[in-house]
Amino acid sequence: MLTGSCLCRKVRFEIRGDLGSIVYCHCESCRKAQGTAFVANAPVAEEEFVVTSGAELIAKYGSSPGKYRCFCRNCGSPVYGYRASIPGTVRGACQ
Ligand SMILES: [Zn+2]
Ligand SMILES: [Zn+2]
Repeated sequence: MLTGSCLCRKVRFEIRGDLGSIVYCHCESCRKAQGTAFVANAPVAEEEFVVTSGAELIAKYGSSPGKYRCFCRNCGSPVYGYRASIPGTVRGACQ
């Protein structure tokens, strides 16, 4: 099992399954959302991505139609994202 958190550690999560293929994405949307030259992300089954604390702090931003980037409203860290067109899957950073 993998565990993770946002920068302030108020949002914590567990990944209770396998990661899908890890991708480095350097699209403009990811670069701006993460503040980096590229991001690493991997798909995870939604039911295996469990927020264990701080769920109430997670806000989401629709960065393009049907695509949502979820982040900690306290520290601003990106936590995961999802696409309405790909139900049942969340991703680390990009979609
Ligand atoms: Zn935070
Ligand atoms: Zn991207």
